[in-house]
Amino acid sequence: MNNVFKKTFRRKLGLSELLVECENVIVTLRSNEKDADFQSCRKIPVCYIPNLPMLKTAAETYTRRMYSDFEEEFKKQFTLSCELLEGNGTNSTFFVKYMQSEHGATVVLNKEDSTITCSCRMFECIGLLCKHALRVYNMNGVYNLPSQYILPRWTKYAKSGFYIETKQGSEEGDLNAQATLISRQATSLALKCSSSK
Ligand SMILES: [Zn+2]
Repeated sequence: MNNVFKKTFRRKLGLSELLVECENVIVTLRSNEKDADFQSCRKIPVCYIPNLPMLKTAAETYTRRMYSDFEEEFKKQFTLSCELLEGNGTNSTFFVKYMQSEHGATVVLNKEDSTITCSCRMFECIGLLCKHALRVYNMNGVYNLPSQYILPRWTKYAKSGFYIETKQGSEEGDLNAQATLISRQATSLALKCSSSK
């Protein structure tokens, strides 16, 4: 969002011009989002390794953009080493790092329900499993993507009603919220401009 504003509002604008520019930004955002949704639903991305269950599920489920990000993480796992630090029945703790590095992440896997946590906190931050967790899954024979790690908001079905998150609104609701945010930022910017004259 900040990048959109930086690109659009580099030059000084009057209030009326600013509001017109805001409207243009909203139209562009809506159009881009609809194009991306259309592409996601129209065809499934080609996996770089065919027939891997985890990639196949991700390709069939995620939007194209999220699949691309997931596949990047998936590829990176093969540059990592994985060492078992501790195993006490259900939970096992691993240290995962780049092969030539001392720095890495600690991953805890629950072997009964495939729950996994990583000290890098990538899943908690952006909702995609990190390369460390994917490495541990691979090393422990977890080849399917556990459903609890497919966040509905990153799926291509999110807007068609197959997935409903309690805190997420409809497409129209999301776009309206986005429009309201842009409008508030524009008004705030306009007020700052007028008070600085
Ligand atoms: Zn991680």
